[in-house]
Amino acid sequence: MSQYSSVLLAVDLTEECKPVASRAQLIVEATEGILHIIHVIEPLSLAYGGDIPMDLSAVQDQIHEQAKSHLAEFANKIGVQEANQHLVFGRPDSEIHRVAEEVRADLIVVGSHGRHGLALLLGSTANGVLHGANCDVLAVRVGDDRPTQQ
Ligand code: AMP
Repeated sequence: MSQYSSVLLAVDLTEECKPVASRAQLIVEATEGILHIIHVIEPLSLAYGGDIPMDLSAVQDQIHEQAKSHLAEFANKIGVQEANQHLVFGRPDSEIHRVAEEVRADLIVVGSHGRHGLALLLGSTANGVLHGANCDVLAVRVGDDRPTQQ
């Protein structure tokens, strides 16, 4: 295995991040690298455009506070120190690329759903991360289509 020295684990903070994190941990242990973790908060204005005619800043602040504590809790559980926990705002794929450059990641680890039909056409975060990444990307299968463990 190539010697990954800086691994960036992207988490959406759902239950599905656990198998993705386990894979990243195994790699970091094997290569004695540093594990970074990132969660990207999508601004509500990006998700809904100008469609909702009200001030969303209080809701956005609440989302930020919740994400901050969930990320810290998850990161501490898997032994990622505070300096390597990255909570940022923006589009997940472009922010993951930006932070990957910042921490000189040589591997990005993301979860990937088997997609069908419309979801396949719409694409995924894993696809977005793969396209345009300047380093290796590991897409760990999550969700119902995950291969069963023997
Ligand atoms: P999705 O394509 O949105 O189903 O997400 C698949 C994977 O992309 C997740 O398992 C995470 O690794 C990553 N991901 C999705 N959303 C985010 C986010 N907001 N912040 C960081 N990583 C994310």
